[in-house]
Amino acid sequence: MENVIRVIVGHRPYRPSGFVVKSEKLDAKTVIHNYGHGGAGITLSWGSSALAVRETLGMEHRVAAVIGGGVMGLTTARLLQDAGWRVTIRTKTVARHTTSNVAGGEWGVASAHDPEVSSAAFKSQLDFAARIAHHAHTNLGGADYGIHWTELYNLSQRPFSDEGDKFDALYPYQTELMPDEHPFDSPYVRCSLTMMVEPATFLRRLTEDFLQAGGKFVIQNFEDKSELVTLDEPVIFNCTGLGAGKLFGDTEITPAKGQLVFMPPDPDVDYLTIGGGSGLLYMFSRSDVLLLGGTFKPGDYSTHAEPEETKRIVEGHQKIFSGFA
Ligand SMILES: Cc1cc2nc3c(=O)[nH]c(=O)nc-3n(C[C@H](O)[C@H](O)[C@H](O)COP(=O)(O)OP(=O)(O)OC[C@H]3O[C@@H](n4cnc5c(N)ncnc54)[C@H](O)[C@@H]3O)c2cc1C
Repeated sequence: MENVIRVIVGHRPYRPSGFVVKSEKLDAKTVIHNYGHGGAGITLSWGSSALAVRETLGMEHRVAAVIGGGVMGLTTARLLQDAGWRVTIRTKTVARHTTSNVAGGEWGVASAHDPEVSSAAFKSQLDFAARIAHHAHTNLGGADYGIHWTELYNLSQRPFSDEGDKFDALYPYQTELMPDEHPFDSPYVRCSLTMMVEPATFLRRLTEDFLQAGGKFVIQNFEDKSELVTLDEPVIFNCTGLGAGKLFGDTEITPAKGQLVFMPPDPDVDYLTIGGGSGLLYMFSRSDVLLLGGTFKPGDYSTHAEPEETKRIVEGHQKIFSGFA
């Protein structure tokens, strides 16, 4: 516990039926929504934003406002710029004060929806977005964007489902390990390769790219969607994450509170773990911190760190790694 540097809390913009990409008319404006990515917004960013930008096909306009300066706003803005648009990001907060900057940053399609609730159409949209995003993130691998490949160990008390995950193909080298092939005290261990996206570096680099391509930031808070009608830009992208609930009256979106515990970075730990104890547990080794998670509490608006969760998270990981020589 004495190695804990900091404990942080964030709210994932969660919708059980999944994230929203669609356009609608607001007076003479076209509003294109791109929000509600739950625990997978960093992962899905390029993919979901590509679907949002696809909504502009056939439009003659080349001037847009993007509302929101998190990962969805920035990737949407960058894709628009690549397609020749002039873009202004109008946002209450810049990237380092967003939920995007709180994310753990594992590339994983997790907690993006409730499969019991979401439709087949959404699942296919998710699949498409994940594949585009995977391709885009792999193209940007390297320290520059804070993206690197790493081994991921899933630790489980129960056998992994035979059906496999729809996204298995996006986790190369996936293998189940025999007990004598790993040091974990878990009966079932699966190893695969995934990407770690370090949010602070990634968002900073996207911001630089946006500014270099001529983008402008305006710090602006919209209390009501009627204020959007007064903007100069004819096309408006809604990338407000959890803010879309109030701004557009989306009653389904809810904060899924997450708590992360930061320890000093340890370059010798060159892998990630998920699972291995009671409740949600994960360890992500990043260059800025060694991060221990976590919690996922839909409907919990509170912003304080919970000491009993910190204790569970630290002790849970102590147990996982105590058997290591
Ligand atoms: C603890 C935790 C761990 C996570 N781990 C991961 C992970 O490992 N991998 C992963 O892929 N994802 C992870 N996520 C999820 C990820 O952080 C989110 O899905 C993602 O950040 C959502 O991005 P966004 O741009 O939609 O929203 P945000 O980052 O919240 O940005 C929204 C922007 O809109 C602006 N805004 C909102 N309302 C208004 C308004 N009315 N007027 C003007 N501006 C407005 C805000 O100021 C902000 O700039 C995690 C999240 C948490 C909390």
